Amino acid sequence: MTLHLFNTLTGQMDDLVPADGKALRMYACGPTVYDYGHIGNFRTFLQIDILRRTLKLLGVPVQHVMNITDVDDKIIRNATAAGIPIGQYTERFEKAFLEDLDSLRIQRPEQLARATEHIPRMVELIQKLAENGAAYQAEDGSWYFRLASFPEYGKLSKKDLSGMEDGARVDVDEYEKDSARDFALWKAAKPGETSWDTAIGRGRPGWHIECSAMAMEYLGDSFDLHAGGEDLMFPHHENEIAQSESVTHKPFARHWMHVRFLLVDGRKMSKSEGNFYTLRDLLLKGYKASAIRLALVSVPYRHQLNFTFDGLTEATNAIERLRTFHQRLVAGTFADGESDSLQAAAKKARAEYGSALSNDLNTAEARAPIFDLVRTANTALDQGLLLAGDRVAILAVLASFDSVFDVIEDRDAEPTRRALAWAEESGRLDDVAPELLAAQSLTDEAIDALVAERTLAKKQRNFGRADQIRNELAEKGVVIEDSKDGVRWKRK
Ligand code: AMP
Ligand code: ZN
Repeated sequence: MTLHLFNTLTGQMDDLVPADGKALRMYACGPTVYDYGHIGNFRTFLQIDILRRTLKLLGVPVQHVMNITDVDDKIIRNATAAGIPIGQYTERFEKAFLEDLDSLRIQRPEQLARATEHIPRMVELIQKLAENGAAYQAEDGSWYFRLASFPEYGKLSKKDLSGMEDGARVDVDEYEKDSARDFALWKAAKPGETSWDTAIGRGRPGWHIECSAMAMEYLGDSFDLHAGGEDLMFPHHENEIAQSESVTHKPFARHWMHVRFLLVDGRKMSKSEGNFYTLRDLLLKGYKASAIRLALVSVPYRHQLNFTFDGLTEATNAIERLRTFHQRLVAGTFADGESDSLQAAAKKARAEYGSALSNDLNTAEARAPIFDLVRTANTALDQGLLLAGDRVAILAVLASFDSVFDVIEDRDAEPTRRALAWAEESGRLDDVAPELLAAQSLTDEAIDALVAERTLAKKQRNFGRADQIRNELAEKGVVIEDSKDGVRWKRK
């Protein structure tokens, strides 16, 4: 099966296959590490994770590069205000970003590239642009890209740029700009600001040139796919194309993927609007990392997603259903043989799941057949009709589902523990849900002991004590489940 992915550049669904027949070479715009990422940012990174995992599921190896923007206006401003070098300022947000990726089970790209470690490459590109007449130096020593030198400007975003003013300039690192202007490639040093002494003068790179330099450094002049959030399409990606193609005269990325926004009450979730949640905020409210992951990936990337707490609760319940079912299959004993209907159901689920993902990463349609299968198989389990061969077939479907969605295996304790440690360090324990704090105060051993005491109390028909223990644990966020396979407990 081949992945059909919408291509912003061609405006149609194109097959996404490696041009070199080996690995899919892709570049994704990474974070600016000036603060903690919000879950809108992570929606984009999660959808790119779904892309890379789907490619792997389809047998396509991936060479994925992501930049870390560790110098820009905001970083310089904040580091200066804190009175520390930018490297010291960005270090902790880069670390937090990588931890958040881990918490959300977002696979690390093959190559992470920091802007500040690629300055010579950027300078070289700017020199080549100047040689080709596509870059010029302004009076203050800054370098600009001459938009008029690139007639194809606008081919990605399909914007009508006829009113474009020749020579009008913009030098900020922001990306919500409507008008097309000559943009800064290199900003001349200002007193007290971080800068590099280079052949094109003392200064620092503009934001757009970073991505061109690092993409071409690791992936070559032309590569398979470039991805990012929808806000990057214009002008950032348009500028990347202009800079790169003006140097190489070859197509930059063949395929462009843009992830639509996460909204809150119909408005873009963003730092500047103040309507955002970080991953840590949600973990400290007691939501599990897996539920946040599932909620953010379940709406396909080309649709906007409205963030709600109901959505997180729905995802929490859905994961619970999957995990309980998975546990029943893993722990149960089954008679030999296979049933025709369950074998057919497993086969159908797998086929529908695969075809939904390969059809423009339709995660909503990919989920549905898996949950249908769980329903059918649960009924068969209740009736004792599920056989050993069915167990194998269904576990294989779940494994395939989890190779992309990655929510069944319970690894939720670690992200929550990390968020709590962070809350403690940064004096934010007031933000922590009381139930979560109480649950953390109980060790696994203490819970085991209470559960054992309850089992004994029940045996001795001391139901009062048994109920008391159950209630005590529930107050601390620990749920006891009695099943025919024995007693299990879990933290909510
Ligand atoms: P930034 O760190 O602001 O440069 O953003 C990192 C990534 O998150 C970029 O690809 C942005 O397009 C993306 N992004 C920012 N806000 C949102 C949002 N509300 N929903 C989805 N993606 C977003
Ligand atoms: Zn970029």
